[in-house]
Amino acid sequence: MTFERKQFLADVGRILAADYATDLSRATRKELYNAVSKAVMQGAYADWSKTSAGGKKRCGYFSAEFLMGRAIFNNLMNLGILEEVEGALASVGQDLNAFEEVEDAALGNGGLGRLAACYLESAASKGLPLDGYGIRYRYGLFRQTFVDGYQHEEGDDWLRWGDPWSVRVERDAVTVRFADLSVRAVPYDTPIFGYRNGVVNTLRLWSSEPVQPFDFSAFNEMKGDSKAKENFEATKICDVLYPNDNTMVGKMLRLRQQYFMVSASLQDIVRKQKAAGKDLLALDSDYCFQLNDTHPVIAIPELLRILQQEGCTFEEAFGVCSRVFNFTNHTIMAEALEKWDSLAIADLLPDVYEQIVGCQKRLENEGLDGSKFYIIREGTVHMANLAIYVAAKVNGVAEIHTNILKTETFRDWYELYPEKFVNITNGITPRRWLLLNNPRFARLIDEKIGTKWHTDLKEIRKIKPHIADMLPSFQVIKAENKRKLAAYIKEHEGVEIPENFIFDVQVKRLHEYKRQMLNALSILYFYYGIKDGSITDFPPTAFIFGAKAAPGYYMAKAIIKFINEIAKLVNSDEEVAPYLRVVFVQNYNVSYAEKIVCAADVSEQISMAGMEASGTSNMKFMLNGTVTLGTMDGANVEICEEAGAENEYIFGATVDEVATIKRFYWPLEIIGQNPALKRALDTMIDGTFSDEAGSLKKLHESLTAGHTPDRYLVLLDFADYVRVKEELLRDYGTEEFWTKCLLNTSAAGKFSADRAVSEYAKLIWHIK
Ligand SMILES: *Cc1c(COP(=O)(O)O)cnc(C)c1O
Repeated sequence: MTFERKQFLADVGRILAADYATDLSRATRKELYNAVSKAVMQGAYADWSKTSAGGKKRCGYFSAEFLMGRAIFNNLMNLGILEEVEGALASVGQDLNAFEEVEDAALGNGGLGRLAACYLESAASKGLPLDGYGIRYRYGLFRQTFVDGYQHEEGDDWLRWGDPWSVRVERDAVTVRFADLSVRAVPYDTPIFGYRNGVVNTLRLWSSEPVQPFDFSAFNEMKGDSKAKENFEATKICDVLYPNDNTMVGKMLRLRQQYFMVSASLQDIVRKQKAAGKDLLALDSDYCFQLNDTHPVIAIPELLRILQQEGCTFEEAFGVCSRVFNFTNHTIMAEALEKWDSLAIADLLPDVYEQIVGCQKRLENEGLDGSKFYIIREGTVHMANLAIYVAAKVNGVAEIHTNILKTETFRDWYELYPEKFVNITNGITPRRWLLLNNPRFARLIDEKIGTKWHTDLKEIRKIKPHIADMLPSFQVIKAENKRKLAAYIKEHEGVEIPENFIFDVQVKRLHEYKRQMLNALSILYFYYGIKDGSITDFPPTAFIFGAKAAPGYYMAKAIIKFINEIAKLVNSDEEVAPYLRVVFVQNYNVSYAEKIVCAADVSEQISMAGMEASGTSNMKFMLNGTVTLGTMDGANVEICEEAGAENEYIFGATVDEVATIKRFYWPLEIIGQNPALKRALDTMIDGTFSDEAGSLKKLHESLTAGHTPDRYLVLLDFADYVRVKEELLRDYGTEEFWTKCLLNTSAAGKFSADRAVSEYAKLIWHIK
């Protein structure tokens, strides 16, 4: 369908009148946003009803997190009407960009949730029948501000702006039963528009509601609303996203959330299969399910339960499960591999627990070594083991990560089922992460090689012969992006960054393994070096951080405080002002990432080798023409393979070295040999910074004292990091440096989420 400006404006006007009793000239920003979005949803710019009906085998992507970010610009772009809508609004004196204020849908913590969002977009753009299933959290990831350098958290009331992109589907509501409580699950469907191909898939998020909202008879008998407590419990399930990244919280509410989401999804699907007269034992000819990390793994015993309730035997049901479920592992951190107290599951979900016991018994009956292969052991249910035992395929998310799974984390399982294990290296969608966030650069590429790369990112390698030609324009575009980011940072963080500075960026969740600490210490090293004259002609650099720390993660919050103190020290020192600037942006999210990624000169990917399963921000930066300063970890390894290690800045211990060194590691020796490092460390304890709460002192201790000081080898890698970082900063600005940037873009083809979902479709889901 073609876009008709008059018709569109009439639609918007009609919705404004009907829903808000207003018109185009008087509508508030929020009213206009809702009306414009609804006009797009209601106008047949893409036919949702037709495509999601399908008839083809579909895959359900089960995930506790979907970090979608802002929908409107991406949706308009994918529908091919972004400029048309902008023009239509401009013709009535309204500015589409005003919707920059709209809250992100932040129903995820970080990389794992953003990956799910990228995969949905890519699958739709490739015409693959993939639908997301998750929870419609009332509050998403907390809003972060800094108060006196400390992280402060507030509820993320994302629905404040309305949710015009979703439709409540009352007819598909189901009841989810816990031992103590039954709740109604109501789905909200959001269309996922493919990139200019007319395909529409679905993200289905479940909301929990009371089964019986109000007990009228009890009220009438003057007993009050006896249901009130139960109803409160029911709505509470979807109240809030657990703000944890790489840590498992053994909270009953979290278990309720996990079960709620998979039970609702599976009940709905099974009900529809039955209604269509399908044989449930052949469920796998119509469906498969991807379990995104361990959070949705309880889907396995739930489907076992449902199928037996429908008359299947345990073995039949097990056979179905072993064909429909697949499992993605995202981390090797022990604290993130979910384990539940058996009693907790047995109490809350007795019928589901019985199925887990059934799996354990089945496993025992196979005569395997019980010390290696177990699901329940010593009163604990191991969700990853359950997933590996039952699932058809298990995948890691980068080559190095999958190898670690095979040789370390799940070695025994791999030896038992080698054919189950596959690698699918993560990817990002080039639509949001280049076309949308960096339109001028995208146009520059279009001018050289056409637009095929929009949907086939391998094509982008064709810019290689044009790189020399592109350098001047690329620099102009980067400078423009930097100016825009600097203006935004000035407005929102109050820190001024001169535009001639190098933008050195580390944005990602705050975690000790990601080693923001290493970056922080290097800044102090540069700061004191410049002040005492041991470092001269330092290239002017702004160090930009963005990260949220899980509210209960003490050390992560201490690191935020430390970096904010460093920023205060550095930014207020006139002597170093020509060389250094430090800013920690507040409330890092997808929309902030879009602004930062296109403006960065350096992409810091400096986790301890072996810890970052893949990383995806490394890919976003690469695609936007930014060199990586990083360790041989996660997808950095493959970035080096694709772009050539000579075009990145690599430092630090490798996975093998880490394993050897860790056995005898004693950081005090390193500190003793490096006075500049000692000086940087001492700022945590010598009164340089205010530390009434004593958190900097604890940070210092975590690096230097206790049973395992410096668990993530910050001090070990420090000298090499600083050496390579200085080399990078001094290379900056040369023709050779800019060439490296564009070589990175040209080599980013592999990291398209289109490639990743195509691999899933072919190797795991068997969908077309
Ligand atoms: C891409 C992205 C991430 C993941 O970053 P990593 O550096 O790969 O951990 C986290 N948060 C947001 C908002 C993102 O866009």
